[in-house]
Amino acid sequence: MSKIKNITFTIKKYDYFKPFHITGSLSNFATNIEVCIETESGAKGHGEASPSFRVNGEKVETLIHLEPIIKDALIGLNVKNYRKIFDVMDKFFAFPSIKAAIQYATLDALSEEIGMPVYQILGGAKDEIETDKTVGIDTIENMVKDAKEIFDSGFTTIKIKVGEDLKKDIEVLDEIYKNTRGAKYIVDANMGYTPKQAIEFVKTLYSKNIEIHLFEQPVASTDFEGLKIVRFNSPFPVGADESAKTKYDVLRLIKMEAVDFINIKLMKSGISDALAIVEMVKSANLQLMIGCMGESSVGINQSVNFALGTGAFVFHDLDSALMLKEDNFRGKYLSNPPIYKAL
Ligand SMILES: [Mg+2]
Repeated sequence: MSKIKNITFTIKKYDYFKPFHITGSLSNFATNIEVCIETESGAKGHGEASPSFRVNGEKVETLIHLEPIIKDALIGLNVKNYRKIFDVMDKFFAFPSIKAAIQYATLDALSEEIGMPVYQILGGAKDEIETDKTVGIDTIENMVKDAKEIFDSGFTTIKIKVGEDLKKDIEVLDEIYKNTRGAKYIVDANMGYTPKQAIEFVKTLYSKNIEIHLFEQPVASTDFEGLKIVRFNSPFPVGADESAKTKYDVLRLIKMEAVDFINIKLMKSGISDALAIVEMVKSANLQLMIGCMGESSVGINQSVNFALGTGAFVFHDLDSALMLKEDNFRGKYLSNPPIYKAL
């Protein structure tokens, strides 16, 4: 029988190999919640919530108390009718990382029941994807060293964190560009600039012949007008991350013509909204990237299967599991960075 018999939450802590610094935030470790859904036949589905207080106001200390409430809401539902479970979890929109973990664990349990991998349940559009790797904020010297290491180890797309110091950020891009010729760059300001600073940043890079492939979240998450101003004054594509949490945010961004790219993260949207966002963005002829918070291989597994299944993404920023210390790799995919393959 494919009915849900039990759901458990477990807190897990992972240290970063190197403290991860982005605009307004420094992390030494990630604290996540692993969820396990067990069906009456004994199939187990695994998911992971990696909450972000900065983006979604979520804390593990709050989320852990949802365990009995979610058990009460879902026990007895059949994972083969997974949309019913998704609809219940949509009510938990205020806790999007838990919504993501439960929705994914449901698909994972279904996958075990029917013997078909999750990426195929979601469409099986691709067999492999390529991830980027991120350079966090640091001294110019260290950022260039990190970018070189990433490029030399085979990554073709480098993501660079900026947003705390415009003058230094331009110097960083200049130096990284000189040292990693041929790489593609995603530059993420994590809301650090004003619209005017963001425009000055991209215009200066353009004048130096530095091309960036995507300029992520230059301004405050609530400043949709600011995003639009940057978009129409930038020679490079502009994307929304912190501004694009739910499908309703994305509908507004599309209507306003505020961005070229949407960064989907399961931790902001869950599987249900992420599926809706994929179709909305494709309908609007805009482009998609997929990103992560502080997921381990259990959580990155969710996004890898989602990306392989939908085949919807131009860029995959699924590197958190490469930045965290884990005892064992537990993804149901082949990790050979920068390539992730379906099993
Ligand atoms: Mg971002």
